[in-house]
Amino acid sequence: MKYFSTNNHNIKVRFKDAVIHGLAPDKGLYFPEEIPQLPQSFFNNIENLSDTEIAYTVLQPFIGDEIPEYALKEIINETLTFDFPVVKITEDLYSLELFHGPTLAFKDVGARFMSRCLGYFNRNSNENVTVLVATSGDTGGAVANGFLGVKGVKVVILYPSKRVSDIQEKQLTTLGGNIFALEVTDTFDTCQAMVKKAFLDSSLQKYNLTSANSINVARWLPQMIYYFVAYKKLKKLQQKVVISCPSGNFGNICAGLLAYKMGLPIEQFIAATNANNTVPRFLETEEYLPSQTVATLSNAMDVSNPSNFVRILELFHQNVPELKSVFSSYSYNDLQTKKAIQELYSKYDYVADPHGAVGYLGTQKATIPNSVKVFLETAHPIKFKDAVEQVIDKELPLPDDISAIIEKEKKSIVIENYEELKESLALIYR
Ligand SMILES: *Cc1c(COP(=O)(O)O)cnc(C)c1O
Repeated sequence: MKYFSTNNHNIKVRFKDAVIHGLAPDKGLYFPEEIPQLPQSFFNNIENLSDTEIAYTVLQPFIGDEIPEYALKEIINETLTFDFPVVKITEDLYSLELFHGPTLAFKDVGARFMSRCLGYFNRNSNENVTVLVATSGDTGGAVANGFLGVKGVKVVILYPSKRVSDIQEKQLTTLGGNIFALEVTDTFDTCQAMVKKAFLDSSLQKYNLTSANSINVARWLPQMIYYFVAYKKLKKLQQKVVISCPSGNFGNICAGLLAYKMGLPIEQFIAATNANNTVPRFLETEEYLPSQTVATLSNAMDVSNPSNFVRILELFHQNVPELKSVFSSYSYNDLQTKKAIQELYSKYDYVADPHGAVGYLGTQKATIPNSVKVFLETAHPIKFKDAVEQVIDKELPLPDDISAIIEKEKKSIVIENYEELKESLALIYR
């Protein structure tokens, strides 16, 4: 399988290069040159397959012979060490919980899969690769955890001092080993600017810098697994399935749409956003006009120019009516989000985090008669403890892993500017 750049279909690379480089040289996103089709027999038999068997069948065609069967199976087994429960809320409403991984948000699957692919490609090299990543919260923890102990890889995470939650900070700064946390005394935007500058800095080439942000194909593709697992678990109901995905950068829902294009029988996809509503506006006006990003309760979705939307358009050959026949998108503000958390708790005794609550709101827009509606619950509510506890007026118990992490000692290198980033890299490699 080759991958082309969304900016130029003539630039093609193999999976390995797409993973190592992340972004195409022309700054386009890598996109598979063909969409593999799954046979009907796979869907007829899906309830008899394990999650790892499904993952192998779905992902293998995207990787071809670049990773041999035994190694890809091992990567998948190491990635999927936790479950994705489908929790029944009413007769026709379900929550697909994607937060049972080590850092309690759905990004664990992509980060773990990518780290192991990189580890495989790097297996015979004596050179180190340095994953340099800026985080506003969830990505850092998932990447740190996913890359912990991966041979030949050092991970350097930049995070904005005092602007991430306590739990998120501990997830970044307490692992040790090959994970290094740089605490930047400025905003997330500054962290991201420093990372971009580092990638263009020839004096840093010796560190073999690579990125682990969400546009990497090895983070994007494995997210398809969620949708196949949801279908497998709901198939026995013999009803049509509608999925609502809380969306920010639109990577997760784009993986769902790719699964659909491979043959997965989901009838309707709803992308539920917070107040950052560029895509819902686009579907109404067909004008793509990103506005200023606004801060919301569902902060992992505070994105106003979602990178993966170009991939969604590519999947539908830029044909908006065709896209709209299966995909819609709606925006919800913080007040609606709080009411949704409240309603799920008081009516159904279900505690949702703010992202899942936005997803729940999206299910109300389903238009397929007699369908089951599924919202993706993308983070554990404890990650947004203060907001959730305030709404439901009840204290949430701390999971054991989180209590353990809160006890651990934070280790970070405080940096103020780009020169200090360079000094820190030199120190890490001394
Ligand atoms: C990243 C994130 C999202 C948004 O996912 P995208 O793929 O960027 O649309 C939603 N919920 C949580 C908890 C996240 O961390």
